[in-house]
Amino acid sequence: MPDSPVAAGLRARLADQLKRAGYLRSPAVEEAFLAVPRHLFVPAGFTPEEAYRDEVIPLIPGLATLSQPSIVVLMLEEAEVRRGMKVLEIGTASGYNAALLAELAGDPSLVYTIEIDPRLAAQARRNLEAAGYGEVNVRTGDGTRGWPDGAPYDRVVVTAEATDLSRELLGQLDPDGLLLTPFAIPGLPALLLRLRPKGAGAVGTFVGIPVAFVPLQGEYTGDSRRWEAKSRRVQRVIAEVEDEAWSEGVALSLDRRLALYLVAAAVAEKEAVPPDEQPREAWRRYIEAGEPELADVGVLALPLAECPNSGLVLRRRDYAFRLDLPRERNGGGGGESPRREVVR
Ligand code: SAH
Repeated sequence: MPDSPVAAGLRARLADQLKRAGYLRSPAVEEAFLAVPRHLFVPAGFTPEEAYRDEVIPLIPGLATLSQPSIVVLMLEEAEVRRGMKVLEIGTASGYNAALLAELAGDPSLVYTIEIDPRLAAQARRNLEAAGYGEVNVRTGDGTRGWPDGAPYDRVVVTAEATDLSRELLGQLDPDGLLLTPFAIPGLPALLLRLRPKGAGAVGTFVGIPVAFVPLQGEYTGDSRRWEAKSRRVQRVIAEVEDEAWSEGVALSLDRRLALYLVAAAVAEKEAVPPDEQPREAWRRYIEAGEPELADVGVLALPLAECPNSGLVLRRRDYAFRLDLPRERNGGGGGESPRREVVR
């Protein structure tokens, strides 16, 4: 079914719902959302009513989905795509998000999108064509190394969970650009990471709420066996650090808890700290940092060779992701007592 008043009505209703829930915030994203006929991007067999619910639609179970509208919109708000910007998307799937990016950039030919599955890439091309975005550049391949042809990009948006970034990909980002990716750390829910280039690396923060995307496949993904062992280790540290917080009478908000989890994950990677001391060490560091919220935790992506082993560091293949905690940043220690809710 082509676009129609009925579909437009359903879309407007979903837009209202997303606005009330606080996901849809800017006029630009709302305009784009109202313009793109999502029902033209769902697989055959789905009705327009189903296309305009705030739900995930599976394309290939476990490997590809049409993301939930609320999460798509949340990411678009964070990506701050402006007219005339060149955008690279990794993980085309249906092509729906690429169409939204085309609306925001104001020109489909400014959008480059890579899909690892050739059948999905072919379907996305057809979907984009049918919806009037045939000029979007679609390629089949592993996007973890980017797409040099269109570089530099003002925005890089990854729509699958990354565990690492390649130097090639960051290298294709304009010096004033912004990269947004769901970032998975073993043992933790995936978090949206927002990075800007800085020197030979990047700097940024985690934003928003935990997000669930399918994992990124291809070259820059973790070794799943090592991953599972690491995951168990981190979860054990987290469970014990939660006990620690509880025994000290501290009830953390979800937001602060996520910041604490990040600290715990980095401490669990420190070989210098014996495993049974890691929970206490994570808790100590978190308290010393002033019980930061997620947005207070800075992230520095440094080329591995340039990253000292001190501090809280998640070491990956090309980059080390160094956590930058508030009090540590200012020399650490002392200061006013942090805001906290005391249980009982
Ligand atoms: N943006 C999509 C949703 C993405 S789902 C939409 O609007 O519908 C994630 C997609 O990423 C899947 O289709 C999966 O096949 C793809 N993918 C996974 N790893 C990839 C890689 N290394 N390069 C390119 N695409 C990848």
